[in-house]
Amino acid sequence: MTNREAFSPRPDSRVTHFPQPAISVMRSVFLLIPILSVLLACATAPETEDQLVERAQGIHERVITLDTHDDINVRNFTEERNYTMDLPTQVTLPKMREGGLDVAWFIVYTGQGDLDEAGFDAAYENAVSKFDAIHWLASEKAPDDIELALTSDDVRRIVADGKLVAMIGIENGYPMGTDLGRIQEFAERGARYMSLAHNGHSQLSDSNTGEGDGVWLHNGLSDLGRDAIAELNKWGIMIDLSHPSKVANMETFELSRANVMASHSSARALNGHSRNMDDEQLMALKENGGVIQTVAFRSYVNQEKDRAYREATDALRTEIAEEMGVSVITDRRQWFSMSAEEREAYQDAIAPLEEELAIRAADIEEEPVNVADFVDHIDYLVETIGIDHVGISSDFDGGGGVEGWNDASETFNVTLELVRRGYSEEEIGKIWSGNLLRVLDEVQAVAAQIQAEEG
Ligand SMILES: [Zn+2]
Repeated sequence: MTNREAFSPRPDSRVTHFPQPAISVMRSVFLLIPILSVLLACATAPETEDQLVERAQGIHERVITLDTHDDINVRNFTEERNYTMDLPTQVTLPKMREGGLDVAWFIVYTGQGDLDEAGFDAAYENAVSKFDAIHWLASEKAPDDIELALTSDDVRRIVADGKLVAMIGIENGYPMGTDLGRIQEFAERGARYMSLAHNGHSQLSDSNTGEGDGVWLHNGLSDLGRDAIAELNKWGIMIDLSHPSKVANMETFELSRANVMASHSSARALNGHSRNMDDEQLMALKENGGVIQTVAFRSYVNQEKDRAYREATDALRTEIAEEMGVSVITDRRQWFSMSAEEREAYQDAIAPLEEELAIRAADIEEEPVNVADFVDHIDYLVETIGIDHVGISSDFDGGGGVEGWNDASETFNVTLELVRRGYSEEEIGKIWSGNLLRVLDEVQAVAAQIQAEEG
């Protein structure tokens, strides 16, 4: 085709060939178009970026924001060093204020050790020190800033008082040893959720980590674990499915009289990590009326993207270390074999390197896992099991955090991304705290019923 003439516009050709009546109809239509478009523009003017951010800020202020998983180190709960200060931890009271994070679940975490009396005793001692630390912060150090909540009514009252809220979750039932009576004790110490295992099989349950080597201890729950479920139901402690194995979780759905939760897990369908829940577990969770607290943990959100970014960062670190003549640890075992003093000295030695790395990290081509990747999991979970069964967690100070929500001061970015995705204020309220608090209410109602039955 070379004949350009054939494509030249002929502005008058259509009009001259229309018969008279058609022209008047056309004219009225053309007259209506400007009027209609003005009306439409008024009704559906696209929201500007500023307006969207402002709307998101309003929502963020009105809803109660609640994060179900924030690890703690008792060394940050002393007079000299604590959460009222500007510590480098991802959660502190000033960071919660800055980011508008209302409720932090502080975690009584115990790593898995030997399943013998010495192991149980050490675990119990560790757990008690963490309970004490949280109570010390809320009751002694900063009672005007933060208060411990035991019920959803407490949460709403404390938030209305303008204070921050602390709640307590137990990560790993290891510290209860073989003494079921400890579950009531833990409830009295303020715990409102507990997982039966962490990484590594406990006396109560197999762990998700069995997927790595195919070695299982109980093939699901132990008999003691089954009894623990009944005790947890009785004392109003939510059962947390985030770390146990799938088989253990499927059995827990059957055994638990109350609904259950996953305190920090994401969707296996989007990222095949054993810490994430597959669709079968998700459907059982929905059936159970429970909630999954989507976790902003980089390798649980997107392992491949995270690996690529970390490899690029490590390469840059090595390059800078060579330039500076500093030697860096590349083997995790070396780090774990160091004493606390050696670690501190090492961290001082590499501080200038880390500063330089922070500056030059902007040049890394690979992207870190970010808030949008995290909210992809929320979208998937909402689509799969519905808006009533999905919540939020960070795993801050336990390895969690993504670009954009890397400490409590950046909490608004999560709400902003939810608003961008089209979630309403009511839906955002459910995701941020409504669903989790509903499950807590229901678990406590079941506990009251069991206690009444047993007299
Ligand atoms: Zn964990």
